[in-house]
Amino acid sequence: MNAASKSLRNLSQRAHSSAGGNQSDVLDAIAARYAVAITSAMAALIDPNDANDPIARQFVPDPAELQTGAEENADPIGDFAHSPVEGIVHRYPDRVLLKLTHLCAVYCRFCFRREMIGPAAKPLSPTALENALAYIAAHPEIWEVILTGGDPLLLSPRRLKHVVSRLAAIEHVAVVRVHTRIPVVDPARITPALLRALKCADKATYVVLHANHPRELTPAARAACARLVDAGIPMLSQSVLLAGVNDDPATLGELMRAFVANRIKPYYLHHADLAPGTAHLRTTIARGQELMRALHGRYSGLCQPTYTLDIPGGHGKSPIGPGYLVAEAPGRYRVTDFNGTEHCYPPPT
Ligand code: SF4
Repeated sequence: MNAASKSLRNLSQRAHSSAGGNQSDVLDAIAARYAVAITSAMAALIDPNDANDPIARQFVPDPAELQTGAEENADPIGDFAHSPVEGIVHRYPDRVLLKLTHLCAVYCRFCFRREMIGPAAKPLSPTALENALAYIAAHPEIWEVILTGGDPLLLSPRRLKHVVSRLAAIEHVAVVRVHTRIPVVDPARITPALLRALKCADKATYVVLHANHPRELTPAARAACARLVDAGIPMLSQSVLLAGVNDDPATLGELMRAFVANRIKPYYLHHADLAPGTAHLRTTIARGQELMRALHGRYSGLCQPTYTLDIPGGHGKSPIGPGYLVAEAPGRYRVTDFNGTEHCYPPPT
């Protein structure tokens, strides 16, 4: 356990001491089931005097994690049902996930893969990686490969370069997309060697940054993102809608603006998945739609993510944002503007 993770334990004991019982035993029970870690960059952001600190809520273990709801599932988005070979998830025709590592720099308390990641999970062996690359090479419909895990940017630049160049050598792979939290949780890892490892001639590399609260975009994190973008790597964002973290219009709007101001296009706002022990962090879909309505028209069009639900059972993502258009008759609609006023389309003559 590193110094930051020790402070995480102290924070957890302090935050939940009013719950009674032996907090140390509760924490041990959580840590025995789910991985626990935080980086010094994220630990430094936590206000120990704020019982509702939005950074702490994301990383500090909570006794509520020991309660699994009836609708919660160890594989909430159905990865296993779509895994033809170890390390690959092939859910949609033109793209696959390649899970390179089971490790993360931080362990988010709401993680949808919390039962599959962490030091106790099985790493992808060199043979399994070769089999996964062979699967991609054998499927010409695969246009995009999404590197995920765990956090792929925890790998050394040498290992990343090996994987990216192997993918780039597959003719039908046009895009390599990297899903990561590293630029915010450990910005010093975005080094020139890592940038060189991610770039490949003739193929596009995108980095999709996972961040959930505007405070995560510290000056060091902004500088790390600037290094990526300046190196010619486009960035997108993904955030999880989390109760007590970003489920109010001002925080969500500020987060989206922080992304755009740092040349990161908001991409996904995920409805939190039905991962075990995460009910205390989930909002309702109605609340998510209300928040999306609050962003619409009041924040730049660049600041609008797509609110999505990963349908349990492995059926993929669907946009679940509010609807603004109602069909009244063939060719005739009612459309709602950003103030909530309805209009006919086409307008009455
Ligand atoms: S960084 Fe991603 S994979 Fe890792 S714990 Fe957080 S949500 Fe899960």
